[in-house]
Amino acid sequence: MTTISFIGLGNMGGPMAANLVKAGHKVLGFDLVAELRAAAAKTGVSIGESLAAVVSEASVVITMLPAGKAVLSVWEAALPLAKSGTLFIDSSTIDVDSARKAHELAAKSGLSSVDAPVSGGTGGASAGTLTFMCGGADAAFARAKPYLEHMGKKIVHCGGNGAGQAAKICNNMILGINMIATVEGFALAEKLGLSHQALFDVASTSSGQSWSLTTYCPVPGPVPASPANRDYQPGFAAALMLKDMKLSQDAATSAGAQTPLGAAAAALYEKFVESGHAGTDFSGIINMIRGK
Ligand code: NAD
Repeated sequence: MTTISFIGLGNMGGPMAANLVKAGHKVLGFDLVAELRAAAAKTGVSIGESLAAVVSEASVVITMLPAGKAVLSVWEAALPLAKSGTLFIDSSTIDVDSARKAHELAAKSGLSSVDAPVSGGTGGASAGTLTFMCGGADAAFARAKPYLEHMGKKIVHCGGNGAGQAAKICNNMILGINMIATVEGFALAEKLGLSHQALFDVASTSSGQSWSLTTYCPVPGPVPASPANRDYQPGFAAALMLKDMKLSQDAATSAGAQTPLGAAAAALYEKFVESGHAGTDFSGIINMIRGK
């Protein structure tokens, strides 16, 4: 049994912390929101009323927070409180530059760290089937892996510091662009009098094939489990897709990479979110593309 500090007990962090408890670890949890602390306590998490109360006894500290700024401020506060040898893991989705800064802060304190963002959503967090994309030194990854295995089913070491975040935002930029390409294909097919099923049957077995088409089809019918069949209830909310698209564009600017389609897709998701669809599944952008 390891004593693990878990900071950020929201939609993802709450069920992830609960899975560490189920695996037999002592989990000391903290969140700024009192209701979330109370909800986590019901799953067996021992709640601290401050960061200091949960960090000083832990051998592993995990953060699951909204953005890079929050991660850096929590790590800045927590690192000096941690005992020697404590491993720091950040599973939030944040910008690559902040992820690298967090690693630098840990190294300055003489502590190991891993960036380990996830995919799989709240369903994967509850079921313990997340995919973790990890960045950091080999030894830090080897220490983190057994804990991540209690919360996920696929744990990938992508490279050095920040490589997990880089993999996450490159993947999600591909997804964001692919979804809009798929949506445009269906919107054009409708105007040409081609049925959804006919386009699906051809494209899903041809060069137009993608996850956006065959697993997450943006029109109702061909893939019964896709959000299109439940009026675009998420799934993956457009606001979260917009966050990841913006992170990809920040990274592209910072690294000097050309991502013209990424930029165009980010602008379209921004328009969709601003038109009142932050909580709609991202595939619901088909209605905006249709002009509805
Ligand atoms: P959330 O907003 O539900 O949870 C974040 C929690 O962090 C909140 O409860 C907030 O009170 C807490 N928090 C913020 N600052 C804090 C601080 N200084 N100290 C302690 N607690 C603090 O968000 P979420 O959906 O759980 O997502 C968490 C991260 O995971 C985000 O980076 C998100 O992009 C990423 N992510 C989310 C999903 C998803 O489907 N929700 C999927 C993959 C990745």
